[in-house]
Amino acid sequence: MKSVEPVSKVVPVRPLPRIYTRDEHTVSRKFVSDAALKVLYRLHNAGYQAYLVGGSVRDLLLGREPKDFDIATDALPEQVRELFRNCRLIGRRFRLAHVQFGQEIIEVATFRAQHVGDAEGSAMTDEGRILRDNVYGTIDDDVWRRDFTVNSLYYNIADFSIVDYMGGVEDLRAGQLRLIGEPDKRYREDPVRMLRALRFATKLGFSLDAETLEAIPRLRQLLEAIAPARLFDEMLKLFQGGDGRQTFAALRHHGLFHCLFPLTDELLDSPEGEFAQALIEAALDSTDARVAENKPITPAFLFAALLWHVVEEEAASLMANGASSLDALALASDTIIAKQISRIAMPRRFTNVTREIWGLQARLQKPAARRVEKSTEHPRFRAAYDFLLLRSQAGEPVEDAAEFWTRYLSTPSDDDREQLVENLQASDAPAPDAAKRRRRRRRRKPAGE
Ligand code: ATP
Ligand code: MG
Repeated sequence: MKSVEPVSKVVPVRPLPRIYTRDEHTVSRKFVSDAALKVLYRLHNAGYQAYLVGGSVRDLLLGREPKDFDIATDALPEQVRELFRNCRLIGRRFRLAHVQFGQEIIEVATFRAQHVGDAEGSAMTDEGRILRDNVYGTIDDDVWRRDFTVNSLYYNIADFSIVDYMGGVEDLRAGQLRLIGEPDKRYREDPVRMLRALRFATKLGFSLDAETLEAIPRLRQLLEAIAPARLFDEMLKLFQGGDGRQTFAALRHHGLFHCLFPLTDELLDSPEGEFAQALIEAALDSTDARVAENKPITPAFLFAALLWHVVEEEAASLMANGASSLDALALASDTIIAKQISRIAMPRRFTNVTREIWGLQARLQKPAARRVEKSTEHPRFRAAYDFLLLRSQAGEPVEDAAEFWTRYLSTPSDDDREQLVENLQASDAPAPDAAKRRRRRRRRKPAGE
Protein backbone atom coordinates (compact mmCIF):
# COMPACT_ATOMS: atom_id res chain seq x y z
CA MET A 1 0.00 0.00 0.00
CA LYS A 2 1.86 3.04 -1.24
CA SER A 3 0.02 6.03 0.06
CA VAL A 4 2.72 8.63 -0.19
CA GLU A 5 4.31 10.46 -3.06
CA PRO A 6 7.86 11.75 -3.00
CA VAL A 7 7.64 15.53 -2.65
CA SER A 8 10.68 16.49 -4.62
CA LYS A 9 9.96 17.99 -8.03
CA VAL A 10 13.57 17.39 -8.99
CA VAL A 11 13.80 14.02 -10.68
CA PRO A 12 16.27 12.16 -8.52
CA VAL A 13 18.75 9.68 -9.87
CA ARG A 14 17.28 6.30 -9.13
CA PRO A 15 19.91 3.63 -9.41
CA LEU A 16 18.76 0.06 -9.17
CA PRO A 17 19.75 -1.74 -6.03
CA ARG A 18 21.91 -4.79 -5.92
CA ILE A 19 19.78 -7.53 -4.40
CA TYR A 20 21.51 -10.23 -2.41
CA THR A 21 19.19 -13.21 -2.36
CA ARG A 22 18.76 -15.38 0.69
CA ASP A 23 21.58 -17.76 -0.30
CA GLU A 24 23.97 -14.91 -1.12
CA HIS A 25 24.26 -13.51 2.39
CA THR A 26 24.58 -14.72 5.96
CA VAL A 27 21.77 -12.88 7.72
CA SER A 28 19.62 -15.44 9.46
CA ARG A 29 16.31 -14.94 11.22
CA LYS A 30 17.70 -17.04 14.03
CA PHE A 31 19.60 -13.99 15.22
CA VAL A 32 16.78 -11.51 14.85
CA SER A 33 14.83 -10.97 18.05
CA ASP A 34 11.34 -12.46 18.32
CA ALA A 35 9.95 -8.99 18.85
CA ALA A 36 11.51 -7.64 15.67
CA LEU A 37 10.28 -10.64 13.68
CA LYS A 38 6.79 -10.17 15.04
CA VAL A 39 6.72 -6.55 13.90
CA LEU A 40 8.17 -7.38 10.49
CA TYR A 41 5.65 -10.16 9.87
CA ARG A 42 2.66 -8.21 11.08
CA LEU A 43 3.50 -5.30 8.78
CA HIS A 44 4.10 -7.71 5.92
CA ASN A 45 0.86 -9.58 6.50
CA ALA A 46 -1.04 -6.30 6.53
CA GLY A 47 0.26 -5.60 3.03
CA TYR A 48 3.05 -3.18 3.85
CA GLN A 49 6.71 -3.36 3.00
CA ALA A 50 8.84 -4.20 6.01
CA TYR A 51 12.60 -4.20 6.24
CA LEU A 52 15.14 -4.56 8.96
CA VAL A 53 17.52 -1.69 8.43
CA GLY A 54 20.59 0.08 9.72
CA GLY A 55 22.92 -1.19 12.39
CA SER A 56 21.16 -4.51 12.89
CA VAL A 57 21.65 -5.65 9.27
CA ARG A 58 25.24 -4.41 9.36
CA ASP A 59 25.98 -6.21 12.61
CA LEU A 60 24.26 -9.45 11.55
CA LEU A 61 26.32 -9.51 8.36
CA LEU A 62 29.44 -9.08 10.46
CA GLY A 63 28.39 -11.85 12.81
CA ARG A 64 27.98 -9.40 15.69
CA GLU A 65 25.08 -9.16 18.05
CA PRO A 66 22.94 -6.12 17.13
CA LYS A 67 22.28 -3.60 19.87
CA ASP A 68 18.73 -3.06 18.69
CA PHE A 69 16.52 -3.72 15.70
CA ASP A 70 15.21 -0.88 13.57
CA ILE A 71 12.51 -1.38 10.98
CA ALA A 72 11.67 0.66 7.90
CA THR A 73 8.28 0.48 6.24
CA ASP A 74 5.97 2.24 3.81
CA ALA A 75 3.20 2.21 6.43
CA LEU A 76 2.57 5.65 7.90
CA PRO A 77 3.13 6.06 11.65
CA GLU A 78 -0.62 6.08 12.27
CA GLN A 79 -1.01 2.91 10.24
CA VAL A 80 1.71 1.26 12.28
CA ARG A 81 -0.06 2.28 15.44
CA GLU A 82 -3.26 0.66 14.24
CA LEU A 83 -1.48 -2.65 13.92
CA PHE A 84 0.03 -2.74 17.39
CA ARG A 85 -1.56 -2.14 20.73
CA ASN A 86 1.82 -1.76 22.40
CA CYS A 87 2.79 1.14 20.15
CA ARG A 88 3.57 4.80 20.81
CA LEU A 89 4.30 7.52 18.31
CA ILE A 90 7.24 9.65 19.31
CA GLY A 91 9.49 12.37 17.96
CA ARG A 92 9.13 15.95 16.92
CA ARG A 93 11.88 16.11 14.36
CA PHE A 94 10.39 13.07 12.73
CA ARG A 95 7.62 10.82 13.82
CA LEU A 96 8.54 7.28 14.68
CA ALA A 97 6.59 4.38 16.05
CA HIS A 98 7.94 2.56 19.07
CA VAL A 99 6.55 -0.90 19.56
CA GLN A 100 7.27 -2.21 23.01
CA PHE A 101 7.74 -5.83 24.05
CA GLY A 102 8.73 -5.94 27.69
CA GLN A 103 12.13 -4.25 27.89
CA GLU A 104 12.67 -4.33 24.16
CA ILE A 105 11.60 -1.45 21.94
CA ILE A 106 11.40 -1.90 18.20
CA GLU A 107 11.65 1.36 16.33
CA VAL A 108 9.55 1.52 13.18
CA ALA A 109 10.22 4.40 10.80
CA THR A 110 8.26 5.25 7.70
CA PHE A 111 10.44 5.70 4.60
CA ARG A 112 11.47 9.31 4.37
CA ALA A 113 12.74 11.51 1.58
CA GLN A 114 15.57 14.01 1.72
CA HIS A 115 14.46 17.59 1.84
CA VAL A 116 15.06 19.65 -1.24
CA GLY A 117 13.37 22.69 0.26
CA ASP A 118 9.61 22.27 0.32
CA ALA A 119 6.47 24.33 0.38
CA GLU A 120 7.01 25.20 4.03
CA GLY A 121 10.31 26.79 3.12
CA SER A 122 13.73 25.51 3.70
CA ALA A 123 14.16 22.80 6.29
CA MET A 124 17.77 23.71 6.72
CA THR A 125 19.74 26.37 8.52
CA ASP A 126 22.11 28.72 6.72
CA GLU A 127 24.92 26.28 7.33
CA GLY A 128 22.90 23.53 5.69
CA ARG A 129 21.94 21.75 8.88
CA ILE A 130 18.74 19.69 8.64
CA LEU A 131 16.03 20.89 10.98
CA ARG A 132 13.05 18.93 9.79
CA ASP A 133 13.13 15.54 8.24
CA ASN A 134 9.56 14.42 8.07
CA VAL A 135 8.64 14.08 4.42
CA TYR A 136 7.65 10.56 3.60
CA GLY A 137 8.96 8.73 0.57
CA THR A 138 9.87 5.32 -0.77
CA ILE A 139 12.74 3.00 -0.01
CA ASP A 140 14.89 4.55 -2.72
CA ASP A 141 14.33 7.99 -1.18
CA ASP A 142 14.97 6.66 2.29
CA VAL A 143 18.34 5.20 1.44
CA TRP A 144 19.81 8.62 0.61
CA ARG A 145 19.28 10.05 4.04
CA ARG A 146 21.18 7.25 5.78
CA ASP A 147 24.65 8.13 6.91
CA PHE A 148 27.07 5.40 5.83
CA THR A 149 26.83 2.82 3.07
CA VAL A 150 27.13 -0.03 5.58
CA ASN A 151 24.21 1.46 7.52
CA SER A 152 21.99 1.59 4.44
CA LEU A 153 21.26 -2.10 3.93
CA TYR A 154 17.67 -3.32 4.04
CA TYR A 155 16.72 -6.88 4.92
CA ASN A 156 13.43 -7.66 3.25
CA ILE A 157 11.11 -9.86 5.28
CA ALA A 158 9.09 -10.65 2.12
CA ASP A 159 11.85 -12.75 0.53
CA PHE A 160 14.78 -12.60 3.03
CA SER A 161 16.93 -10.72 0.55
CA ILE A 162 19.22 -7.79 1.28
CA VAL A 163 18.62 -4.65 -0.74
CA ASP A 164 21.78 -2.65 -1.29
CA TYR A 165 21.60 0.67 -3.15
CA MET A 166 24.94 2.07 -2.10
CA GLY A 167 27.46 -0.73 -2.31
CA GLY A 168 27.21 -1.25 1.41
CA VAL A 169 27.85 -4.99 1.25
CA GLU A 170 31.08 -4.47 -0.67
CA ASP A 171 32.21 -1.77 1.73
CA LEU A 172 31.36 -4.01 4.61
CA ARG A 173 33.39 -6.85 3.17
CA ALA A 174 36.29 -4.44 2.62
CA GLY A 175 36.01 -3.04 6.15
CA GLN A 176 35.38 0.43 4.80
CA LEU A 177 33.24 3.15 6.37
CA ARG A 178 32.00 5.52 3.69
CA LEU A 179 29.50 8.36 3.87
CA ILE A 180 26.69 8.27 1.36
CA GLY A 181 26.88 11.29 -0.95
CA GLU A 182 29.19 14.22 -0.65
CA PRO A 183 30.89 14.35 2.76
CA ASP A 184 30.85 18.12 3.10
CA LYS A 185 27.14 18.27 2.47
CA ARG A 186 26.32 15.30 4.70
CA TYR A 187 28.37 16.60 7.64
CA ARG A 188 26.84 20.04 7.26
CA GLU A 189 23.35 18.55 7.32
CA ASP A 190 24.17 16.82 10.56
CA PRO A 191 27.57 17.36 12.16
CA VAL A 192 26.95 14.50 14.61
CA ARG A 193 27.79 12.24 11.67
CA MET A 194 31.44 13.13 12.34
CA LEU A 195 31.17 11.59 15.79
CA ARG A 196 29.33 8.63 14.37
CA ALA A 197 32.06 8.12 11.77
CA LEU A 198 34.74 7.76 14.45
CA ARG A 199 32.49 5.65 16.66
CA PHE A 200 31.62 3.12 13.96
CA ALA A 201 35.15 2.98 12.55
CA THR A 202 36.45 2.19 16.02
CA LYS A 203 33.72 -0.24 17.01
CA LEU A 204 33.81 -2.19 13.76
CA GLY A 205 37.56 -1.93 13.24
CA PHE A 206 36.86 -0.32 9.85
CA SER A 207 38.98 2.19 8.04
CA LEU A 208 37.44 5.50 7.13
CA ASP A 209 37.19 6.19 3.46
CA ALA A 210 39.59 9.01 2.51
CA GLU A 211 36.91 11.61 1.66
CA THR A 212 34.81 10.71 4.68
CA LEU A 213 37.86 11.32 6.86
CA GLU A 214 39.33 14.29 5.07
CA ALA A 215 36.36 16.57 5.70
CA ILE A 216 36.37 16.08 9.47
CA PRO A 217 39.17 18.44 10.53
CA ARG A 218 37.73 21.11 8.24
CA LEU A 219 34.19 20.87 9.59
CA ARG A 220 34.60 19.88 13.21
CA GLN A 221 33.65 23.39 14.42
CA LEU A 222 30.11 22.68 13.26
CA LEU A 223 29.65 20.35 16.20
CA GLU A 224 29.48 23.40 18.42
CA ALA A 225 25.99 24.08 17.11
CA ILE A 226 24.65 20.73 18.31
CA ALA A 227 22.21 20.80 21.20
CA PRO A 228 23.82 19.78 24.52
CA ALA A 229 21.06 17.23 25.13
CA ARG A 230 21.87 15.41 21.90
CA LEU A 231 25.57 15.47 22.73
CA PHE A 232 24.78 13.80 26.03
CA ASP A 233 23.14 10.92 24.16
CA GLU A 234 26.09 10.74 21.80
CA MET A 235 28.54 10.82 24.66
CA LEU A 236 26.93 7.71 26.14
CA LYS A 237 27.25 5.90 22.83
CA LEU A 238 30.85 7.03 22.39
CA PHE A 239 32.12 6.15 25.83
CA GLN A 240 29.78 3.47 27.09
CA GLY A 241 29.48 1.35 23.96
CA GLY A 242 32.23 -1.04 24.97
CA ASP A 243 35.09 0.58 23.03
CA GLY A 244 35.37 3.77 25.03
CA ARG A 245 39.12 3.77 25.37
CA GLN A 246 39.77 3.48 21.65
CA THR A 247 36.97 5.85 20.76
CA PHE A 248 38.47 8.45 23.08
CA ALA A 249 41.83 8.03 21.33
CA ALA A 250 40.16 8.48 17.93
CA LEU A 251 38.26 11.58 19.08
CA ARG A 252 41.47 13.11 20.40
CA HIS A 253 43.40 12.16 17.31
CA HIS A 254 40.92 13.75 14.94
CA GLY A 255 40.31 16.81 17.06
CA LEU A 256 36.67 16.06 17.96
CA PHE A 257 37.17 15.64 21.68
CA HIS A 258 37.44 19.40 22.06
CA CYS A 259 33.82 19.96 21.10
CA LEU A 260 32.71 17.53 23.81
CA PHE A 261 35.02 18.37 26.71
CA PRO A 262 36.79 21.62 25.85
CA LEU A 263 38.31 22.17 29.30
CA THR A 264 39.62 18.63 29.52
CA ASP A 265 40.94 18.79 25.99
CA GLU A 266 42.93 21.91 26.79
CA LEU A 267 44.33 20.34 29.93
CA LEU A 268 45.31 17.21 28.01
CA ASP A 269 47.34 19.36 25.64
CA SER A 270 49.15 21.09 28.49
CA PRO A 271 52.32 19.81 30.21
CA GLU A 272 50.16 18.55 33.11
CA GLY A 273 48.02 16.53 30.75
CA GLU A 274 49.74 13.24 31.41
CA PHE A 275 47.95 12.45 34.68
CA ALA A 276 44.58 13.45 33.34
CA GLN A 277 45.16 11.22 30.33
CA ALA A 278 46.14 8.27 32.52
CA LEU A 279 43.07 8.68 34.71
CA ILE A 280 40.67 8.99 31.77
CA GLU A 281 42.16 5.95 30.11
CA ALA A 282 41.95 3.94 33.32
CA ALA A 283 38.29 4.94 33.74
CA LEU A 284 37.49 4.01 30.14
CA ASP A 285 39.31 0.68 30.45
CA SER A 286 37.29 -0.11 33.52
CA THR A 287 34.06 0.97 31.80
CA ASP A 288 34.86 -1.18 28.76
CA ALA A 289 35.53 -4.15 31.02
CA ARG A 290 32.25 -3.63 32.86
CA VAL A 291 30.32 -3.34 29.59
CA ALA A 292 31.91 -6.59 28.42
CA GLU A 293 30.75 -8.28 31.61
CA ASN A 294 27.30 -6.71 31.48
CA LYS A 295 27.86 -4.94 34.78
CA PRO A 296 26.04 -1.69 35.49
CA ILE A 297 27.79 1.55 34.62
CA THR A 298 27.00 5.18 35.27
CA PRO A 299 28.00 8.21 33.23
CA ALA A 300 28.55 10.01 36.55
CA PHE A 301 31.70 7.99 37.09
CA LEU A 302 33.15 8.75 33.66
CA PHE A 303 32.23 12.38 34.06
CA ALA A 304 34.13 12.37 37.34
CA ALA A 305 37.23 10.97 35.65
CA LEU A 306 36.99 13.19 32.58
CA LEU A 307 36.86 16.35 34.68
CA TRP A 308 38.77 15.49 37.86
CA HIS A 309 42.05 17.16 36.95
CA VAL A 310 40.27 20.20 35.58
CA VAL A 311 38.46 20.52 38.90
CA GLU A 312 41.69 19.98 40.83
CA GLU A 313 43.41 22.76 38.91
CA GLU A 314 40.53 25.11 39.53
CA ALA A 315 40.51 24.16 43.23
CA ALA A 316 44.26 24.73 43.48
CA SER A 317 43.94 28.22 42.12
CA LEU A 318 41.10 28.97 44.55
CA MET A 319 43.27 27.73 47.40
CA ALA A 320 46.12 29.90 46.23
CA ASN A 321 43.69 32.75 46.75
CA GLY A 322 43.00 31.70 50.32
CA ALA A 323 40.06 29.28 50.12
CA SER A 324 40.06 26.24 52.39
CA SER A 325 40.59 22.96 50.60
CA LEU A 326 37.01 21.86 51.28
CA ASP A 327 35.49 25.10 50.02
CA ALA A 328 37.82 25.16 47.06
CA LEU A 329 36.81 21.70 45.92
CA ALA A 330 33.10 22.40 46.32
CA LEU A 331 33.31 25.68 44.46
CA ALA A 332 35.55 24.28 41.75
CA SER A 333 33.15 21.36 41.25
CA ASP A 334 30.24 23.74 40.77
CA THR A 335 32.12 26.00 38.37
CA ILE A 336 33.46 23.22 36.17
CA ILE A 337 30.18 21.30 36.06
CA ALA A 338 28.33 24.46 35.12
CA LYS A 339 30.74 25.08 32.25
CA GLN A 340 30.70 21.48 31.10
CA ILE A 341 26.92 21.08 31.02
CA SER A 342 26.65 24.03 28.67
CA ARG A 343 28.31 21.64 26.15
CA ILE A 344 26.90 18.27 27.23
CA ALA A 345 23.61 18.34 29.06
CA MET A 346 24.35 15.84 31.77
CA PRO A 347 21.16 15.45 33.84
CA ARG A 348 21.40 16.63 37.42
CA ARG A 349 20.85 13.19 38.89
CA PHE A 350 24.22 12.28 37.39
CA THR A 351 26.14 15.48 38.11
CA ASN A 352 25.08 15.17 41.74
CA VAL A 353 26.72 11.76 41.89
CA THR A 354 29.84 13.12 40.18
CA ARG A 355 30.06 15.82 42.82
CA GLU A 356 29.70 13.25 45.60
CA ILE A 357 32.43 11.06 44.15
CA TRP A 358 34.76 14.06 44.12
CA GLY A 359 33.64 15.23 47.55
CA LEU A 360 34.45 11.86 49.13
CA GLN A 361 38.00 11.77 47.80
CA ALA A 362 39.46 13.88 50.60
CA ARG A 363 37.86 11.62 53.20
CA LEU A 364 39.02 8.43 51.53
CA GLN A 365 42.45 9.77 50.82
CA LYS A 366 43.16 10.41 54.49
CA PRO A 367 41.03 7.86 56.29
CA ALA A 368 40.46 8.95 59.88
CA ALA A 369 40.14 6.02 62.25
CA ARG A 370 36.91 7.15 63.81
CA ARG A 371 35.18 7.73 60.46
CA VAL A 372 36.18 4.60 58.61
CA GLU A 373 33.02 2.67 59.22
CA LYS A 374 30.82 5.66 58.67
CA SER A 375 32.47 6.35 55.31
CA THR A 376 31.66 2.88 54.03
CA GLU A 377 28.00 3.54 54.70
CA HIS A 378 27.87 6.51 52.37
CA PRO A 379 25.69 5.63 49.37
CA ARG A 380 28.47 6.80 47.05
CA PHE A 381 31.25 5.04 48.94
CA ARG A 382 31.70 2.24 46.44
CA ALA A 383 31.95 4.58 43.46
CA ALA A 384 34.29 6.90 45.36
CA TYR A 385 36.48 3.98 46.36
CA ASP A 386 36.63 2.71 42.76
CA PHE A 387 37.56 6.23 41.75
CA LEU A 388 40.33 6.35 44.34
CA LEU A 389 41.71 3.08 42.94
CA LEU A 390 41.76 4.55 39.45
CA ARG A 391 43.57 7.64 40.69
CA SER A 392 46.15 5.46 42.33
CA GLN A 393 46.48 3.37 39.20
CA ALA A 394 46.91 6.54 37.17
CA GLY A 395 49.90 7.59 39.24
CA GLU A 396 48.44 9.95 41.82
CA PRO A 397 50.07 9.62 45.24
CA VAL A 398 47.09 7.93 46.92
CA GLU A 399 48.40 4.40 46.88
CA ASP A 400 48.50 3.92 50.65
CA ALA A 401 44.93 5.04 51.09
CA ALA A 402 43.78 2.86 48.20
CA GLU A 403 45.55 -0.09 49.76
CA PHE A 404 44.03 0.58 53.18
CA TRP A 405 40.49 0.56 51.81
CA THR A 406 41.07 -2.49 49.70
CA ARG A 407 42.35 -4.38 52.74
CA TYR A 408 39.55 -3.10 54.93
CA LEU A 409 36.88 -4.13 52.46
CA SER A 410 38.33 -7.58 51.88
CA THR A 411 38.66 -8.33 55.58
CA PRO A 412 35.61 -10.32 56.63
CA SER A 413 35.97 -10.43 60.40
CA ASP A 414 34.92 -7.47 62.53
CA ASP A 415 37.90 -7.98 64.85
CA ASP A 416 40.44 -7.97 62.05
CA ARG A 417 38.90 -4.86 60.62
CA GLU A 418 39.05 -3.24 64.01
CA GLN A 419 42.72 -4.08 64.07
CA LEU A 420 43.28 -2.42 60.70
CA VAL A 421 41.60 0.71 61.96
CA GLU A 422 43.71 0.67 65.08
CA ASN A 423 46.87 0.35 63.02
CA LEU A 424 45.67 3.29 61.05
CA GLN A 425 45.13 5.19 64.24
CA ALA A 426 48.65 4.39 65.40
CA SER A 427 49.99 5.95 62.26
CA ASP A 428 47.54 8.89 62.55
CA ALA A 429 48.10 11.93 64.66
CA PRO A 430 47.06 10.81 68.17
CA ALA A 431 43.30 10.66 68.25
CA PRO A 432 41.43 11.86 71.32
CA ASP A 433 40.54 9.04 73.67
CA ALA A 434 36.96 10.11 73.84
CA ALA A 435 36.56 9.52 70.15
CA LYS A 436 38.01 6.08 70.57
CA ARG A 437 35.51 5.12 73.24
CA ARG A 438 32.59 6.48 71.31
CA ARG A 439 33.42 4.34 68.32
CA ARG A 440 30.60 1.94 67.71
CA ARG A 441 30.97 -1.48 66.28
CA ARG A 442 28.47 -2.12 63.64
CA ARG A 443 28.20 -4.56 60.84
CA ARG A 444 29.25 -3.02 57.60
CA LYS A 445 26.38 -2.66 55.21
CA PRO A 446 27.04 -3.67 51.64
CA ALA A 447 28.29 -0.49 49.97
CA GLY A 448 26.14 0.83 47.14
CA GLU A 449 27.42 1.72 43.69
P1 ATP B 1 24.20 1.23 16.77
O1 ATP B 1 24.89 -0.08 16.72
O2 ATP B 1 24.98 2.28 17.47
O3 ATP B 1 22.76 1.19 17.16
P2 ATP B 1 23.10 2.02 14.22
O4 ATP B 1 23.73 2.06 12.86
O5 ATP B 1 21.94 1.11 14.41
O6 ATP B 1 24.26 1.71 15.24
P3 ATP B 1 21.37 4.09 15.13
O7 ATP B 1 21.75 5.37 15.76
O8 ATP B 1 20.63 3.08 15.91
O9 ATP B 1 22.73 3.50 14.57
O10 ATP B 1 20.58 4.47 13.82
C1 ATP B 1 19.95 3.50 12.99
C2 ATP B 1 20.15 3.85 11.54
O11 ATP B 1 19.56 5.13 11.25
C3 ATP B 1 21.59 3.99 11.09
O12 ATP B 1 22.16 2.75 10.75
C4 ATP B 1 21.48 4.93 9.91
O13 ATP B 1 21.05 4.25 8.77
C5 ATP B 1 20.37 5.86 10.34
N1 ATP B 1 20.90 7.04 11.05
C6 ATP B 1 20.99 7.22 12.40
N2 ATP B 1 21.49 8.41 12.72
C7 ATP B 1 21.74 9.04 11.54
C8 ATP B 1 22.25 10.31 11.19
N3 ATP B 1 22.63 11.18 12.12
N4 ATP B 1 22.34 10.62 9.87
C9 ATP B 1 21.93 9.73 8.94
N5 ATP B 1 21.45 8.53 9.20
C10 ATP B 1 21.35 8.17 10.48
MG1 MG C 1 20.78 0.92 16.17
